[in-house]
Amino acid sequence: MLTPRDEWRLAGVNPRLVDVVSHASEHMPAGVSFFVTEGLRTIKRQRELVAAGKSQTMDSRHLTGHAVDLAVSIAGQAQWALQLYVDLAGVIGRSAVELQTPVVWGGCWCRVDGAGNLDDELAAYIKRRLAMGRRPFIDGPHFELPRDGAYA
Ligand SMILES: [Zn+2]
Repeated sequence: MLTPRDEWRLAGVNPRLVDVVSHASEHMPAGVSFFVTEGLRTIKRQRELVAAGKSQTMDSRHLTGHAVDLAVSIAGQAQWALQLYVDLAGVIGRSAVELQTPVVWGGCWCRVDGAGNLDDELAAYIKRRLAMGRRPFIDGPHFELPRDGAYA
């Protein structure tokens, strides 16, 4: 279930993505939930995040309302273990398929559909980046609508 605070933080986010997040919130495993930390972002805040190394681009999907950041929560406490975000991406992926909305996860920068093995996707992403001589940028809490297709 989304809280009023979550809904407030989702203001200005694409309604299809909001629907996926809302659906996922009702299908989390027992004892685990998530809350929304960020949706639509201002240019000023994006500049601050890039300066702090927390984002890598001024072309963020947050600036256009096509991205959300979610924090996994257990007993009311935010959790940052990556495995919990792999699991969250699974739930988001199943919701995305059910609502026929493509969603990209920032852990692997790949589409999630609730079917593939996300641990493998994550490993493949890391390998690809290293092969390019670039540091992987794993953003477990981040989900966005793909840039190609209907949500450009
Ligand atoms: Zn994000």
